[in-house]
Amino acid sequence: MTSSVFSAERLLFTPATPEVDAIPTIFAFPNEYTVGITSLGYQVVWATLAMRADVLVSRLFTDIHESLPRKPELLGFSVSWELDYVNILNLLESLDIPIRTTKRDTDHPIVFGGGPVLTANPEPFADFFDVILLGDGENLLGNFIDAYKAVRYADRKTQLKALAQVPGIYVPSLYIVEYNDGDGAIKSINPITPEIPAVVQKQTYRGNVLSASTVVTQKAAWENIYMVEVVRSCPEMCRFCLASYLTLPFRTASIEESLIPAITRGLAVTNRLGLLGASVTQHPEFENLLNYLSQPKYDDVRLSIASVRTNTVTVQLAKTLAKRDTKSLTIAVESGSERLRQIINKKLHNDEINQAAVNAKAGGLTGLKLYGMVGIPGEEAEDLDATVTMMREIKKAAPGLRLTLGCSTFVPKSHTPFQWFGVNRLAEKRLQFLQKQLKPQGIDFRPESYNWSIIQALISRGDRRLSHLLELTRNFGDSLGSYKRAFKELKGKLPDLDFYVHANWSTEQVLPWHHLHGPLPQSTLQKHLADATSQFKPSEQLLTANG
Ligand code: SF4
Repeated sequence: MTSSVFSAERLLFTPATPEVDAIPTIFAFPNEYTVGITSLGYQVVWATLAMRADVLVSRLFTDIHESLPRKPELLGFSVSWELDYVNILNLLESLDIPIRTTKRDTDHPIVFGGGPVLTANPEPFADFFDVILLGDGENLLGNFIDAYKAVRYADRKTQLKALAQVPGIYVPSLYIVEYNDGDGAIKSINPITPEIPAVVQKQTYRGNVLSASTVVTQKAAWENIYMVEVVRSCPEMCRFCLASYLTLPFRTASIEESLIPAITRGLAVTNRLGLLGASVTQHPEFENLLNYLSQPKYDDVRLSIASVRTNTVTVQLAKTLAKRDTKSLTIAVESGSERLRQIINKKLHNDEINQAAVNAKAGGLTGLKLYGMVGIPGEEAEDLDATVTMMREIKKAAPGLRLTLGCSTFVPKSHTPFQWFGVNRLAEKRLQFLQKQLKPQGIDFRPESYNWSIIQALISRGDRRLSHLLELTRNFGDSLGSYKRAFKELKGKLPDLDFYVHANWSTEQVLPWHHLHGPLPQSTLQKHLADATSQFKPSEQLLTANG
């Protein structure tokens, strides 16, 4: 079965023939093949390694793998979902590699990781990785391999110290975290010696050729999809949004040099095209791209677009999508309350949302999915009423359009201005309120699990002490109850769940990612925070001041 899965792949790159002394490397995705091979990031890193003659790379998934080297020197993980840490630990054990860095020696490979979860906040996983690559992989990955080659035959300590000198390479074991008591906040984070950089700067790639699929297969979760990254980051800077703040600046792929060549390559082997990016329709030449795809030779192309900014939903866009087998569109509106949208810095008005619905219907789409959140900092009960009213008005403006409201709970994310806010305890009740109001109106309301948001927040704001909790929880199962049970067992050794998840943190507090710098300085994030809180109602301001 393994060989039939790999032989079903159509490669869009030419792997190199490895040299005799190529570095034996395993590159893993901590989930099943169908999930991993659908990750554009995984595909691109794997292809980059496979195109180097000095690396002999084998792929590993939780269900299948290529033939693995007996003694790998490097073992990499691409991590895009928090709870996959369980699979990382299981895979390490299955390869007879200790799960903690402190237990590894010269006989073990250097375990490295990258991807959105680790770039956002690697600290809960810091004790499991020897090396973490922070930021865009384009130059970083090559720099990592080159730096490793220079110390390939040195002892492990020397290797790690040398790697830590490369910009964007974070070696967690070379930093000491001190706490105010075992269960208190972080006191300080410092490198173990002055030669180790005090700060690791997340790397930013500035080229105008962005990523595209390196493999197409019917076994992918999105069968036979060819993916093209149209934009990276988002210039809107909604204050809760990791997809914007962590990856700034906003970059667009060049139509001539990046998008058209990539699309031509991909559509030669499949007719399913996915345009990816946090804010695809914000590409300044998006209309030209649509025109290009409207050529008769692409008439049978099935087109999926990852995300569409509400005020870019034109009749033409809806028509193109409807013609290309897309029935509905998703737009993120966050809330029906204009005041809350100002607090989060979302430059969007209710009349634009209504217009998007009207345009979607006029273009022939049959459904519109809106995406919202409850528990946004500064939210009051009346803001929920505004969401109900907004949905009612959209229904009136575009009768017959199937409406869905997907709704999550606000979760604080590192490197965003809202990283200091905790999860609102009323969020679960607020989800229930919306459900009760919207169901009778024939609006399909799809809440995301509140418990899952709590776990996300815990990992999102976690520090190194969490690694013990994650290890324990692994044996208990992935429900919120398991995490609570693990907190009880570790009482006194780390702060409680409340501290990580619900508490509003002071801006004076040393953050777990204090030594890992994102694109914007702390002072800019604080300015955004101050602007947001200045728009809170007095009752909320008092609450925030009290933490
Ligand atoms: S528009 Fe969407 S992707 Fe852009 S910052 Fe706002 S929430 Fe993030």
